[in-house]
Amino acid sequence: MAKQLNFKQELVGVFGKPVAENPTQLMVEAAFKKHNLDWRYLTLEVDPAHLGDAVRGARAMGFQGFNCTIPHKVAVIEHLDGLGESASAMGAVNCVVNRGGKFIGENTDGKGFVVALESLTEITGKSFVIFGAGGAARAIGVEVALAGAVSIIIVNRSEERGLKLVELLNSKTPANADFVKWEGDYTVPRGTDIVVNATSIGLYPDVDAVLPLNHNSLSPEMVVADVIPNPPRTRLVRDAEAAGCKVIDGLGMLVNQGIIGIEYWTEITPDAAVMRSALEEVFGS
Ligand code: NDP
Repeated sequence: MAKQLNFKQELVGVFGKPVAENPTQLMVEAAFKKHNLDWRYLTLEVDPAHLGDAVRGARAMGFQGFNCTIPHKVAVIEHLDGLGESASAMGAVNCVVNRGGKFIGENTDGKGFVVALESLTEITGKSFVIFGAGGAARAIGVEVALAGAVSIIIVNRSEERGLKLVELLNSKTPANADFVKWEGDYTVPRGTDIVVNATSIGLYPDVDAVLPLNHNSLSPEMVVADVIPNPPRTRLVRDAEAAGCKVIDGLGMLVNQGIIGIEYWTEITPDAAVMRSALEEVFGS
């Protein structure tokens, strides 16, 4: 018997380099399946020279939206119809949503981090130390600042990038940001509430790389978060647990940014556990 074909599938896509098994695709499609959504999430590689054509193609094919990864996060902006508040502050988009025929750029990386963090602690009035000044640090810094963080210390190896992020936080958010150049083991100041690794230190295959940090400066009242999703139990996560801290691993941020994207596209809140277990099948738990 011929299989009934359904031509009404909605589409979202991710623009970026595909890998054999794209973890985000597996995570999002697990949610679509769980909620009986007749949607597909495609992984499409787009040459930077053809980004405008790709966005026009997505419109023409009725995409409800797409994610975009490096190198398209900034370049995509000129092809969109508008930006959400934090994407505008960051100057970077990782999620595009078709709202009434207009493609609006959002940034869900930092929002996903905020949701993961709020499951453990309040953000309002808290002081942060963030290691790194790249895309992840920028997304997290802007979003925690907009969520009420009172002070943020950016610790980064490159002074230029660190100062640029501090300037952005001070000019575009209500938080008070300072820069510390990362030299040797960093001692987390007493009174810090939340410590975040937003560098790529510890990412597979360099799983034994150690974050230059004075581990004795971690104390049990601190929350320590690591953005590295692969492996989820990084050296930092393990050391922070040993110091008695509450911890958040990189899967928490990844799952929550995925949830926010699905909510934007479908207006359904997907099952977080199904999404996390799809990732754990790839990355381990
Ligand atoms: P970028 O390349 O934009 O930034 C990398 C940052 O790491 C820079 O601040 C860089 O410092 C720093 N860094 C890298 N290596 C070292 C080192 N050996 N010593 C000190 N600092 C170092 O990358 P992204 O910000 O886009 O991504 C960072 C990590 O975040 C990646 O591992 C990525 O997987 C993860 N990520 C996780 C997400 C999630 O949902 N869990 C979402 C997005 C990202 P410098 O400026 O000095 O070069």
